[in-house]
Amino acid sequence: MHTTTMDTLLARVRACQLCAAHLPHGPRPVLQAHADERILIAGQAPGRKVHASGVPFDDASGERLRAWLGITRATFYDPRQVAILPMGFCYPGTGRTGDLPPRPECAPAWRQPLLDHLPRLRLTLLLGQYALAWHLPGHQGTLTEAVRQWRDHGPALLALPHPSPRNNGWLRRNPWFEDELLPELRTRVARALA
Ligand code: SF4
Repeated sequence: MHTTTMDTLLARVRACQLCAAHLPHGPRPVLQAHADERILIAGQAPGRKVHASGVPFDDASGERLRAWLGITRATFYDPRQVAILPMGFCYPGTGRTGDLPPRPECAPAWRQPLLDHLPRLRLTLLLGQYALAWHLPGHQGTLTEAVRQWRDHGPALLALPHPSPRNNGWLRRNPWFEDELLPELRTRVARALA
C-alpha cells in the first residue's frame, strides 16, 4: 500500500510547477524515494550539473558523500536503501556567491507527505543549514555546533557539513569531524542498512 501511495506522491512531485516562476532553468525535481528506505539524506538543492543529469549527487559532493558513508554508488542509488530528499528539489540557479538557497516553497509543500511514507527509516543525515533548520528546529547554535554535538541528537539523526568542495576549509579547520564523527557515521550507516 505504501509503495502505491509513494508512487502517486512522486508522480505529483515530478509534475510540480509550484515555484516555476522563480526557477531560472525551470522545474526539474531531482529526488530519490521508496517506501522501503532505511537512510534519508536531507540535502540542500541540486546544482547545475545535477539539474542537467537528473541524478542526485552526481558530482564532486556526491563522491565525497559516498566516501564519508562508506557505501558504493550501487547502494547509494538503490531507492530501497537510500532516500535522497533535498530541501528544494529543483535547481534554484546561481547568485553572486554560488548556488542560490533551496526554494522556500518546496519543503512546506512536499517534505512531510514524503516523510510520512518512509516508515522504515533508521537514520537521517542532515547536510547543511537548511536541512538542519527543518529537521532540528529546536537547535539554537551554528551548523558546526550541531555537527559537533552529534551525541546529543540520538541514534537516528546526524548533522553533517555539506560535502561540497566549497567546504574544504571547514574540513581543515575541524579535524575532529574526520577523526571522531566519520567512524561513527560509517558504523551507523552499516547498521541501518544491515
Ligand atoms: S523546487 Fe519544489 S516546489 Fe519548486 S517547482 Fe521544484 S518541486 Fe515544485
